[in-house]
Amino acid sequence: MLTDTERAEMGALFTELDAEEAEALRRVLERRQREQAELQAEKEKLAAEVAQLERLVNDHEQLKVTKNSPVYHEMEVAMKESTGVTLLLVAIVACSAFTQTNPSKVLKPKVLVLNYDPIIEAEGGKRLHEVCKWNDPRKLTEVYVSDIKECSGGYVQYQIVEWKDVDYFPVKKDGFRYTDESYLQCYRTGKGWHQPDAVDYRAIIKDFKLDERVERREIDEVWIWGAPYLGYWESTMAGKGAYCCNSDPVPDVNCSRIFVIMGFNYERGVGEMLEDMGHRAESILRKVYGRWDNSLPFEQLNAWERFTLYDKQKPGQAACGNVHFAPNSLSDYQWDNKTEVWSTCDDWLNYPHLTGKKRLVNCAEWGNGDIREHHKWWLRHLPKAAGRTDGKLNNWWDYVVDFNSYAESR
Ligand SMILES: [Zn+2]
Repeated sequence: MLTDTERAEMGALFTELDAEEAEALRRVLERRQREQAELQAEKEKLAAEVAQLERLVNDHEQLKVTKNSPVYHEMEVAMKESTGVTLLLVAIVACSAFTQTNPSKVLKPKVLVLNYDPIIEAEGGKRLHEVCKWNDPRKLTEVYVSDIKECSGGYVQYQIVEWKDVDYFPVKKDGFRYTDESYLQCYRTGKGWHQPDAVDYRAIIKDFKLDERVERREIDEVWIWGAPYLGYWESTMAGKGAYCCNSDPVPDVNCSRIFVIMGFNYERGVGEMLEDMGHRAESILRKVYGRWDNSLPFEQLNAWERFTLYDKQKPGQAACGNVHFAPNSLSDYQWDNKTEVWSTCDDWLNYPHLTGKKRLVNCAEWGNGDIREHHKWWLRHLPKAAGRTDGKLNNWWDYVVDFNSYAESR
């Protein structure tokens, strides 16, 4: 047992040692704190550098310019006009910085229009669309170009580089060709239309050297106008490696770039033209994502599948639907359903930053049954941000319009 004195002495001793130890520890602590502060500063600096690099990588992906891209031509011009490497670098850096805020890059696909709209001599030289009191293909084209620009947030700006009015009917696959008289005879009697109906795309390609012109990058795509029963697909694809674009591709077209031929009908309106574009987008995005199967469990669905969900497929989990099905449609083309369903549609305007937030929507959102308004609503919701998510571009318009530039849409 210790005496009280001994206990007091030892207490003093411990206190002394503690004080020394505490002082040493305090100094170590201060040093560690200084080191930590320095490390933190270094870490923040590095994080900022990494973020900057990531942005540049994203922009580079976004700006990835290949010789096949419509953008390439603008860059080429810029390069020719610039006098030195420095100027070019400055231009690229400026371009990258701009990508952060807005779609900096603008797609300007070059379009050749072939307007199969024969002059009908027997009707005082009026064009077929006038004789039959159909719509003016020039006006329809103008509105369509403007709608696509609007729906893509200014990103897709079609350039009609050439317009050809064609004064004959296109030849069909079996060699049949309507004359002014035979066509109007069928039109006026409502019978006798030629079968098989399908047009000969390879003949059109040959007649206008479309493959050569696409190869030379004079044009990026072709829009063919026509009347009912001319046998066009809404869209089709040609060139080496062409795939299903709402129809089987045109076989054996010797062109290293793939290209789309849109088939428009001046008996119909801009709504139907947008439907053609919508189906084209569906086909290309199915190809890009490698699948379109919304029957799988939600957790397994890819971004494209989630975007196209409608309530009937997965009650309570609708997003934007597809071209035929609005979020609350119960059948094809039902764009006028007043029933409210939950939809994540707003989320897709901020893709890839999805929150899963839903709100109740019905046909009042997409024009109460108006075909053009519904299709504009749908196209407006296609993601159009910079960068990539899960290896796929966040701007789906790049795939739909500039498909030659990306391995996954080639
Ligand atoms: Zn359709």
